[in-house]
Amino acid sequence: VVTVGKRVRKRREWGRVEGIVRELEKECETDVGRLRQLADALAVEMNAGLASEGGSKLKMLLTDVDRLPDGSEKGIYYALDLGGTNFRALQVHLGGQRSSILSHDVERQPIPRHLMTSTSEELFDFVAAALKSFVENKETCDGDVRDSGRELGFTFSFPVNQTSVSSGILIRWTKGFAIEDMVGKDVSESLQLALRRKGLDMRIVALVNDSVGTLALGYYHDPDTVAAVIFGTGTNACYIERREAIIKCQGLNTSFGIMVVNMEWGSFWSSHLPRTSYDIELDLDSPNPTEQGFEKMISGMYLGEIARKVILRMAQESDSFGVVPSKLSTPFILRTPMMAAMHEDESQSLSEVDRILSEILEVPEVHPRLRKLVMKVCDIITRRAARLAAAGIVGILKKIGREGERPLGSRSGHDTTMRRTVVAVEGGLYVSYTMFREYLHEALEEILGEDIARHVVLQVTEDGSGIGAALVAAAHSSTAVHTR
Ligand code: BGC
Ligand code: MG
Repeated sequence: VVTVGKRVRKRREWGRVEGIVRELEKECETDVGRLRQLADALAVEMNAGLASEGGSKLKMLLTDVDRLPDGSEKGIYYALDLGGTNFRALQVHLGGQRSSILSHDVERQPIPRHLMTSTSEELFDFVAAALKSFVENKETCDGDVRDSGRELGFTFSFPVNQTSVSSGILIRWTKGFAIEDMVGKDVSESLQLALRRKGLDMRIVALVNDSVGTLALGYYHDPDTVAAVIFGTGTNACYIERREAIIKCQGLNTSFGIMVVNMEWGSFWSSHLPRTSYDIELDLDSPNPTEQGFEKMISGMYLGEIARKVILRMAQESDSFGVVPSKLSTPFILRTPMMAAMHEDESQSLSEVDRILSEILEVPEVHPRLRKLVMKVCDIITRRAARLAAAGIVGILKKIGREGERPLGSRSGHDTTMRRTVVAVEGGLYVSYTMFREYLHEALEEILGEDIARHVVLQVTEDGSGIGAALVAAAHSSTAVHTR
């Protein structure tokens, strides 16, 4: 009788955890119809954001970047890339011909966590000191020690109201950064002051979002590039817009016909988004509730955290994990790369899932059936993220008329003569998480149809956000030596 009772109880436990996973799957549903609605909604919001300031949750920030590198840029430029998990210092040699980046050197360092919530002075002093030692090392090695004339492209991956191509005001922080004294201040000025404090002579020639840097490098290599997307710690997109389409700024002070628009699509919101109780909880616990709703479902900072919340619930509502391990209740302890490792575990016994559950979350050895369910949780969350990301890309293509729909009045059906359309992509989530990338491509094809999807190329740019900032600096530098 006892054994039977136990068995019955055990069965109920499995039923409970399986129920949690099934419910999650249902709530995360992203059929192609929903993805199309989302793409449409994004295109509508883009228009609203361009029509008036505050017209949409999408900020559609004007970047002041009104020309992209055409290859004539020449000289040595520095770049600083700040805004994710790591920051980078770069030196870029431009050769004066398209795709002739003669060399570039990067130094990469993690940003100490405490600096993300300290003061702007502490953060920028740290960054300036690291840049200075990088510059001194480089120049000593190259025998090219200078004391003036250095120019910097600064990639700052947060929403900024641009006041010129080289300066701008921080609107608010995202991705767990929270340095109150910086909000509303000029980002370049803060860096410039820190550089001066450290005694590094360098002029900030461009202040760009990482998406804009990525677009610049993408375009430099391939002029069919129309947009750039970031799938890293955070997510965002920018694209090339016609000046006439930017209604909110009719008197735009530019002699060029285009402007790069930083969408800040992380803050996109639509009732079509498949939202779960885990998303709601994550949002409430974040330092920026009700903001960055799209980002919180898609980007690398959050996927592992959503998965942790689901696994915690599985542990709390059944005894399948034994006593609930305290680590499992620690926010952000399950990083997305770990989640990817569980998701992509190909071993028969799912030993990687077991290892990560025990090493990171201190869950005692788990039943193979449970390992499978945990893997399924990772799959559901990442698949949803990738498919929403794909819908976002299609939204941009729709906005700029590159999603293959025939213009009104022409024959029905899709336009198979569609132009090649390149979207530059950067970020660890896309580059390193294979399942995310595959689900994204699969969804693009589903939404666009094979014929159209064939013309859409996602091109990874390595270090694009940094090198691209140097390119924007070169393209906009008054002292830049152009070959023509
Ligand atoms: C920021 C964007 C940035 C993106 C990717 C978001 O949190 O708001 O400015 O481009 O992260 O780094
Ligand atoms: Mg980055």
